[in-house]
Amino acid sequence: MPFLSLHSLTEHEIEVSVKSKRPGVYILDRSIDPPFKFHYVGRSDNDLPGNLRTWVESGYRYFKFDYAFDAQDAFETQCRVYHENHPPDNDGHPQKPHGASYECPVAECGTIEKRVA
Ligand SMILES: [Zn+2]
Repeated sequence: MPFLSLHSLTEHEIEVSVKSKRPGVYILDRSIDPPFKFHYVGRSDNDLPGNLRTWVESGYRYFKFDYAFDAQDAFETQCRVYHENHPPDNDGHPQKPHGASYECPVAECGTIEKRVA
């Protein structure tokens, strides 16, 4: 898995580290001390730095990110991170982009989605 580099969640850090307005996935950590924790996983379908900026001053302190090929790739990565790490701040299973025909790629997911629906 990528998500290697750890960044402070500040305007400046986003400015210098997340330069491309592309789809992507990010993980947020609000803890003061290491190690990095997966508190929230989010994604942007078309503007990763713009989406990350909305989290500055939100109480989260650190982030990791990875670009995606497209919105589907971003959604599928977000789903995998969600299922593997159970981030406590996510309100439920990631929502797919509006009108998308694809589904979560995680095999065990079916029961979870049925429970939610
Ligand atoms: Zn799923």
